[in-house]
Amino acid sequence: MKIGILSRSIRLFSTKALKEAAVARGHKVQVIDHLKCYMDITSHKPAIYYKGEKLEDFDAVIPRIGASTTFYGTAVVRQFEMMGVYSLAESVAITRSRDKLRSLQLLARKGIGLPVTGFAHSTHYTDDLIKLVGGAPLIIKLLEGTQGIGVVLAETQQAASSVIEAFRGLNSNILVQEYIKEAGGSDIRCFIIGDKVVASMQRSGKKGEFRSNLHRGGHASSVKITPAERTTAINAARIMGLNVAGVDLLRSNHGPVVMEVNSSPGLEGITNATNKDIAGKIIEFIEKNAAPGKTRTRGKG
Ligand code: ADP
Ligand code: MG
Repeated sequence: MKIGILSRSIRLFSTKALKEAAVARGHKVQVIDHLKCYMDITSHKPAIYYKGEKLEDFDAVIPRIGASTTFYGTAVVRQFEMMGVYSLAESVAITRSRDKLRSLQLLARKGIGLPVTGFAHSTHYTDDLIKLVGGAPLIIKLLEGTQGIGVVLAETQQAASSVIEAFRGLNSNILVQEYIKEAGGSDIRCFIIGDKVVASMQRSGKKGEFRSNLHRGGHASSVKITPAERTTAINAARIMGLNVAGVDLLRSNHGPVVMEVNSSPGLEGITNATNKDIAGKIIEFIEKNAAPGKTRTRGKG
């Protein structure tokens, strides 16, 4: 097969691992910087150009679109879809997963366990909003944050309302969430391929840190998940319409709750923590599922 990896750089761990896994299985691979693609969207034959050449004859693309390039990156994926090229992640599923509010609403509608979460535009009823999610301590999150940046733990009612007002004053969209204290600064990343959890790891924040993100100094180790956690993770990925996803769960007193679903989950942490060939399994999934014109990967379930 001829596979394109949409990524800003071949030096990124996940991009390199996917390329090597595909080449090892006899495929031709081109790493394409999506920001350098330009497109003909008007003609009857939609086309994408890259470095002066037309991108042709791809059997599949693997989007590895960073949060800062979602807008243009998903436009490039959409263009591949218009050309009938199979994408491992459908453009609309990537867009869905990047907006925390939209994702949580979709998951809530299907009965997935979530932390109690509130959202408001105006700051007029901030105290009421805080009460709605159970009062302080609580978590305040930027809707489009990543790597733990933009996630704040407010210990008191006073701190919560000042942080909410400060974010709103900057015109940022935020959500307010029950603080799952019993998770103890750890979360569970379930790595989904198809309809299976192929690997899972527990991430724990460094001392004194409630955020478990590896980018914030957290560390990861392989973990055995419960059947309820497995079902929750698989359902969450399916509802988002993602073939490959990193579903992040917290172990709460009221069972597993989904924090977020990542559409471009990193391979480095999970590969190192579990010693599993995640990149190889992704390529294997593409071999089994890619087909010309198959551009609706999965609808939301
Ligand atoms: P990001 O997209 O920036 O990673 P997350 O929503 O995943 O944002 O939050 C970052 C980290 O903060 C999580 O990995 C988790 O450790 C912690 N966290 C987030 N929400 C909660 C919550 N409601 N209760 C307890 N800890 C939380
Ligand atoms: Mg996260």
